[in-house]
Amino acid sequence: MKSGKEECPTIGIDLGTTYSCVGAWQPQHDRVEIITNDLGNRTTPSWVAFTETQRLIGEAATNQAASNPSNTIFDAKRLIGRRFNDTMVQKDIKLWPFKVIPVAGTEDFKKLMIVVTYRGEEKQFAPEEISSMLLIKMKEIAEAYLGRKVKNAVVTVPAYFNDAQRQATKDAGVIAGLNVMRIINEPTAAAIAYGLDKQVSSSDAGKNVLVFDLGGGTFDVSVVKIKKDVFEVKAVSGDTHLGGRDFDNRMLNHLVSEFKRKHNKDISANPRALGRLRAACEKVKRLLSSTAETSVEIDCLYEGIDFSCSITRARFEKMNMDLFHDCLFPVEKCLKDAKMEKSEIHDIVLVGGSTRIPKVQQLLQDFFEGKELCKSINPDEAVAYGASFHAAILAGVGSAKNPILMDVAPLSLGVSLYYGDMRVIIPRNTAIPTQIIDRQLSTAVDNQVSVRFAVYEGENPIANQNNLLGEFFLYNIPPAPRGTLRFDVCFNIDVNGILTVSAELVGTDNKGKITISNHSGRLSKEEIDKMVKAAEKYKAEDEERKKAINLKNKLENYVYEVKGSLRGFAKRINIKDKRKMGDAIEHTAQWLEWNHLLAEACKFEEKMEELKSVCEPIIAKMNQQKDDSTKKDVNRASPKIEIIELD
Ligand code: ADP
Ligand code: MG
Repeated sequence: MKSGKEECPTIGIDLGTTYSCVGAWQPQHDRVEIITNDLGNRTTPSWVAFTETQRLIGEAATNQAASNPSNTIFDAKRLIGRRFNDTMVQKDIKLWPFKVIPVAGTEDFKKLMIVVTYRGEEKQFAPEEISSMLLIKMKEIAEAYLGRKVKNAVVTVPAYFNDAQRQATKDAGVIAGLNVMRIINEPTAAAIAYGLDKQVSSSDAGKNVLVFDLGGGTFDVSVVKIKKDVFEVKAVSGDTHLGGRDFDNRMLNHLVSEFKRKHNKDISANPRALGRLRAACEKVKRLLSSTAETSVEIDCLYEGIDFSCSITRARFEKMNMDLFHDCLFPVEKCLKDAKMEKSEIHDIVLVGGSTRIPKVQQLLQDFFEGKELCKSINPDEAVAYGASFHAAILAGVGSAKNPILMDVAPLSLGVSLYYGDMRVIIPRNTAIPTQIIDRQLSTAVDNQVSVRFAVYEGENPIANQNNLLGEFFLYNIPPAPRGTLRFDVCFNIDVNGILTVSAELVGTDNKGKITISNHSGRLSKEEIDKMVKAAEKYKAEDEERKKAINLKNKLENYVYEVKGSLRGFAKRINIKDKRKMGDAIEHTAQWLEWNHLLAEACKFEEKMEELKSVCEPIIAKMNQQKDDSTKKDVNRASPKIEIIELD
């Protein structure tokens, strides 16, 4: 084990749909530390916003969302690695206030872009770029705390992420200037944190842990077997569209109708009022996890009307009960896939902010016939904790434990057969990395000259009902009766879950290969290089803007200060100087009003110099006069001081 004085620390990043979290191994404390952001929060909203003047990431982006909805991007994780025609993308687009458009690509593999207006110009960003901005933010949070540059990271993704989504997340890392050492599943990371927490000893027969992760927009259930420091994900299940935001929405709808009932006004078409109400709903929901009743109070919500309404936990539960119940189906399915009975689960681990909701806990506990739930891990941090621990292991720092991760393929993978059947080559829940060669495939018709290998993922026996990942052809097949030529078809999934499929006409050099993600809308090397450069440019612009804001504040303060001085000089100042200084101040104040959004720091510097060149000589002259008169005053005052001292 290295001492930990390594040059480049490794970090673990939980890149969440709604909140992200970063941690790092701390050799001096021999444990992972979750790192707080510049506002002192341990998780950072996964939001990026673009304004007339700047780019905002995290809380700064959420805070201005209500007034800038079309340029405030959240949920990029729902888009990453997906194509425009994906049904989930189409469903989501209808709900988002920002614009998503299709771009180049074939009909089946249409890529997508997010469109915003940034500094007065229309810009298009790939989801990978938005995610990279979040990764940069998390990297900077870590760098500020560690006092060193960070290069290496382990990044987590949901267990159900397919190959394209994993690839795209890796690409986001590259754009962020990170070396993504490993992409690991979120429940696996949580299980690592859990394993550490419980100190599962190597003599144990093994533990089956059910990881129940209910976050802001997604729900994952996994069964993980922990044995002798080996963490094996036995099965995964979940719902890509279930989480805290759905609960917020239910409450939002309730409050919109309450407003209508009380004030006979419909606020549902007013994005600003809705945004404010939604933020209030999230706060109220969090409070209701620890208190039985609370209230929403918003001043001037709509047309100057203040809104207040009390809400009980029971009411909140009632409006969400069907959603809470929906959380149990994936649990059942996951147990079935893992071929386990409820009684075989040793521990149920709660992960994700929404698992703080008492009713969710109670339903889960009832499902497991009263078994105590494990809440010892901080649900918001468990994933980042596990990722950071794993990052330290990969970097060769940290404690002696070395968990071996075995993830599973979340969906079956295979090829389409001649009549359209799905030939599964890697069954779902196969432990990865893995390589399976199918030696049973042959031509379907006499004298077939080419063979199409269409790769699908999914559970439907009809291939084209599943998700087409990509295809390739083998040509120049020698004429032969059907069924006489054989093909070896090899499916390989590497440690990052990335799939490569190759096929070979047995006994010949006729081979074909495809790394699936190249066909599923993945960014090209050139596109990534361009985005890396753009990321550097945006960073430089952010810094310039920060510098500009700083100098603008200084200039504002100076204007305020010299205004005060001018007032202080009152009648002592001669009329010419008074007018000169007053005009200069007035001119600068006016300029500030018109130009406060300027991005160029040097402009503020110039104005400051201009104002100083007028004010300073006058101030110096006035101070000189004051000094002279104070000296006289002091002389006159001295006897008084002596009197006081004698007293
Ligand atoms: P994700 O992994 O999806 O990014 P998190 O695991 O960080 O999300 O969970 C975020 C969700 O948890 C949000 O919807 C938030 O409102 C919710 N949440 C956080 N704390 C509480 C709480 N005390 N009670 C109920 N919900 C909470
Ligand atoms: Mg999460």
